[in-house]
Amino acid sequence: MSEAEARPVKTRYDVTLPFGIGVPAWPGEPMPVITRLADMDKGDDCTVTRLDFAVHYATHLDAPLHFVKGGGDVAGLALDVLMGPCQLVRIDNEIDAIGPEAFEIAPGCTRLLVKTRNSALWDDPAHAFHRDFTAFTPEGAQWLVDRGIRLVGIDYLSVQRFYDSEPATHRILLGAGVIAVEGLDLRAVEPGEYHLTCLPLRLVGADGSPCRVVLDGPASTRQKDRRQDTSEQP
Ligand SMILES: [Zn+2]
Repeated sequence: MSEAEARPVKTRYDVTLPFGIGVPAWPGEPMPVITRLADMDKGDDCTVTRLDFAVHYATHLDAPLHFVKGGGDVAGLALDVLMGPCQLVRIDNEIDAIGPEAFEIAPGCTRLLVKTRNSALWDDPAHAFHRDFTAFTPEGAQWLVDRGIRLVGIDYLSVQRFYDSEPATHRILLGAGVIAVEGLDLRAVEPGEYHLTCLPLRLVGADGSPCRVVLDGPASTRQKDRRQDTSEQP
C-alpha cells in the first residue's frame, strides 16, 4: 500500500452560508448592499466592491460586546477558542427549545455545534426569515456554561429563540465569555468530532462579524478501519 493510500483521508466541510445570495437578514436589520466603486465591465482599470452590511448577517459570531456593556469586541476574541476540536451533535426535529441535558456533551468538549431542524431551511438560502427556529433556552445556555463550553454554534441566525421576551440566553452565554456562532449550514455534516476553524474579521470595536467556518474530519468508517489496519506498520 502506498503512503498516500495509508494516510487517513479527512473530509472538509465549509459550513458557511454564501454571502450575497439573499440569505435573510434579522428582522429590522438591512439586507447587505453590495455595489461597485469601480468596475472593469464599465471601463474602469479594476473592479472594487463595496459592502454595506450589519455584522450579524449570515454566518457570523457574537462577541461579548453584543449583549454585555463594556464587553470584549471581535478583535479581542481568542484564536485558541476559535480553532480546535469540536463536537457536533444532532438535535431531534421535534425539539424547538434546547434545554439542559438535551444531549450528551463529551468529556473535555469546549466547542460545540448543534445541528437541528433549522439546517433544512438552508435548502432555500433566500427564504423569508423564519421566526420559529430551534434555539437554546436560558437554562440550556446556563448548562453549556456550567459544562465549560467556550464556543457554541447553531444552524440558524440566533442561539436564542425569536419570541423570548428577554435576551437571557445571549446574556448568559456572552456574559460568561462564550462565543456564539450563528447561521451555520450543517446540512452536509453528520454528528461527530471535527476540527473547527472559525475566523471572523479582526474588527476593532465590533460586537459581531461574519466568519468563515470550516470543519475537518472525521474520517469515514472505511478509512478509520484502514487506519487501524495500518497502525501496526512503522
Ligand atoms: Zn449574532
